[in-house]
Amino acid sequence: MTSAAVVSMEAENPWLNAQRQFDNAAAILDLSPGLREVLRDVRRELVVRFPVKMDAGGLRMFEGYRVQHNVTRGPAKGGIRFHAATDLDEVKALAMWMTWKCALVNIPFGGAKGGVVVDPAELSHRELERLTRRFASEISVLVGPESDIPAPDVNTSGEIMAWIMDTISMEAGYSVPAVVTGKPLDIGGSEGRPTATGRGVTIVAIEACHRLGTDPHGTTVAVQGFGNVGSVSAHLMAKAGFTICAVSDVTGGIYSEHGLDMDELMAHRTRTGGIAGFPGTRSVSNSELLELPVDVLVPAALENQISARNAGRIQARLIVEGANGPTTPDADVILEKRGITVVPDILANAGGVTVSYFEWVQDLQSLFWEEGEINERLERILRRAFAQMCEQADSHSTSLRLGAYLVAVKRVADATAVRGIYP
Ligand code: GLU
Repeated sequence: MTSAAVVSMEAENPWLNAQRQFDNAAAILDLSPGLREVLRDVRRELVVRFPVKMDAGGLRMFEGYRVQHNVTRGPAKGGIRFHAATDLDEVKALAMWMTWKCALVNIPFGGAKGGVVVDPAELSHRELERLTRRFASEISVLVGPESDIPAPDVNTSGEIMAWIMDTISMEAGYSVPAVVTGKPLDIGGSEGRPTATGRGVTIVAIEACHRLGTDPHGTTVAVQGFGNVGSVSAHLMAKAGFTICAVSDVTGGIYSEHGLDMDELMAHRTRTGGIAGFPGTRSVSNSELLELPVDVLVPAALENQISARNAGRIQARLIVEGANGPTTPDADVILEKRGITVVPDILANAGGVTVSYFEWVQDLQSLFWEEGEINERLERILRRAFAQMCEQADSHSTSLRLGAYLVAVKRVADATAVRGIYP
């Protein structure tokens, strides 16, 4: 392997990148060496290998992970992803990002993440259910409403959360709705949860426009990824006055400089099963989409999409990170030099976990709120966190990412200090 390839692989290891982001904040906060050691590693990591009965007969083995990065401020919280390319390092990074995300929006959770190495498109619905239930059982030594609360992430849905809730409940002998969030409404899910991440992306995009002195009306946007986060963000941003010029999914993207009618696009997707071939657009690849001449870029797919390889060619002036970890630290340096503002993932996509918190609270109290109240509370929390992030970034003359980390890491460090080290 060439040394350039080694450097690039290191630059794209999400765990090393997450630790580098933490180190930047720890240096400015002047954290003690001991505290740095505590916070820059994960608290618990569980690797499970388990068999699933396949429809055609026979068994197939799968590998999965549940990682708790930190539980100082409350139970561990974070989603579960099903993806062929996930691994322990990715899940560790995602768990650490959850800790900072929850601390930044100031909800009483630590950070966790889970993953199973699987392409769910290769499984039948029954196989997917058996895999989910067995994985839930395997990680039940960690999860629970007071200890660790999973949620949806890449390729996991409300239905999958229902299977997890049911599995844990059957093992307990009674219903445990608060063990998982992002559930269907019928079993203790929350109003507003399915749209919460995209709503949060929209709220912070508007705040960022105000900070940059621009108006969402007429501001052009490209959205990479058309899953739960990307599709809801595109829809709600269009409603807020932004012009959505490009969207993409795993198969590629579409672009029109005049903007896309989101209702017609949704109807096209329902009709054809995808976004490709939407009339009046030209097709673009996922990497071309990132370099389009638009004002705002919303990466809402996977990690490492904006790296040192393409950061110099990004034309947007504002990036709002719907995905976790879409921008590498090397790219951050380039974007900052070029004066491009990045609203970091730990704020931009925090709407999901914030409404997950509301769901958990409602489940524990068996008292449910209306959607209007949920959306209002969400907006208040995100706007407050946005202002606190900006205040830190401005007073230290740093990027918004570092500003967000300064708020979040300090909260976890202070909680650790005040609890003291056991025994
Ligand atoms: N998977 C989402 C995230 O990355 C939501 C996590 C949750 O609601 O616990 O923030």
